[in-house]
Amino acid sequence: MSSAPRPWSKKSLAAQAMGHVDPVTKAIVSPIHLATTYLRDPDNQYSSGYVYGRPDNATVREAEAVIAMLEDAEAGALLFSSGMAAATAVFGALDPGDHVVAPTVMYWALRRWLAEEATRWGLTVDFVATDDLAALRAAVTPGRTKLVWLETPSNPLWTITDIAQAAEIAHAAGARLAVDSTAASPVVTRPLALGADVVMHAATKVLNGHSDVIAGALAGARPDAFWARIQRIRSGQGAILGPFEAFLLLRGLRTLHVRIAAQMAGAAELARRLGAHPAVGSVLYPGLAQHPGHAIAARQMSGGFGTMLSIRVAAGEAAAVAAAARVGLWKRATSLGGVESLIEHRASIEGPGTPCPPDLLRLSTGIEDPDDLYADLDQALR
Ligand SMILES: *Cc1c(COP(=O)(O)O)cnc(C)c1O
Repeated sequence: MSSAPRPWSKKSLAAQAMGHVDPVTKAIVSPIHLATTYLRDPDNQYSSGYVYGRPDNATVREAEAVIAMLEDAEAGALLFSSGMAAATAVFGALDPGDHVVAPTVMYWALRRWLAEEATRWGLTVDFVATDDLAALRAAVTPGRTKLVWLETPSNPLWTITDIAQAAEIAHAAGARLAVDSTAASPVVTRPLALGADVVMHAATKVLNGHSDVIAGALAGARPDAFWARIQRIRSGQGAILGPFEAFLLLRGLRTLHVRIAAQMAGAAELARRLGAHPAVGSVLYPGLAQHPGHAIAARQMSGGFGTMLSIRVAAGEAAAVAAAARVGLWKRATSLGGVESLIEHRASIEGPGTPCPPDLLRLSTGIEDPDDLYADLDQALR
């Protein structure tokens, strides 16, 4: 970047993927670096800083630089082969016997992994309603609890947890705070600035935004021993992102700000209109004044309340499943954050034991015309 009277905004930096220009060709879009190995210098060194493709890839590093910039991450960002690989690397950096506190309502696959797999490797996991700070405080044990995991807004009720307060509670007990910020995105919330130690994103979702990449990201508050251990886990266990996926993600990140602005405006409009729909019992969306987390969301989210909302169908589960089957423009599929709108009967995919109400439909708002999105839901719900 050339020198400027003031630092460029995150929106400008993201739009140009940090302004990187290929030094050889002057191409303004970076090539995809596919090499798995790099030339050693005559003096037996690796002056380029690149040794082997598992830990070292320039395309991956370029995408990581954009995410680190977006999160103001002093330790930088690390990309993984999926959101789950990123999340599990954080827990892998703990020691057997360590106590973890995680939310009752959270991304279902990670909740199941924590309950069924992480415990086999010696972690003790307690699930609490993290939005209830008294409950969180009671669950965190000084000296024993090593990590508090949050997800806010959390799947699929879009529960809001106060990150700054949770950070205080975790740190007072000597624990770290990690936040799954997938549903918020770095455009809306920056957990590190609110006191979190690690931020996680399923980059599969809004960061890439086009439903064509599986990827995960971590951003770290400081390059400490815990972060170094996460780095070693990634390269040692090999949960790396492929160069092509990193390229697609980099391309997606360039339009993140405009995509998410359009998606959030659509979600807000749908939440408002669906609230008055006779077939809808309630709308779960942190932007609505009656949402229990609204006041905190208004403080810790800026520019919007995310792209996600859920509705509870007044006539119950069968009517909800039937409505999901009647959509045309909405696509009936799992996942979220993409430019195309997705609808899902969430309890069906989470399965037995889910805290998700059976009458709930999860809506991921894309960039289509909100009038079309509403009209399609309106005909599906009757
Ligand atoms: C999708 C998702 C994950 C997992 O990401 P993958 O890329 O599918 O492994 C984790 N957390 C949240 C909130 C998600 O939506």
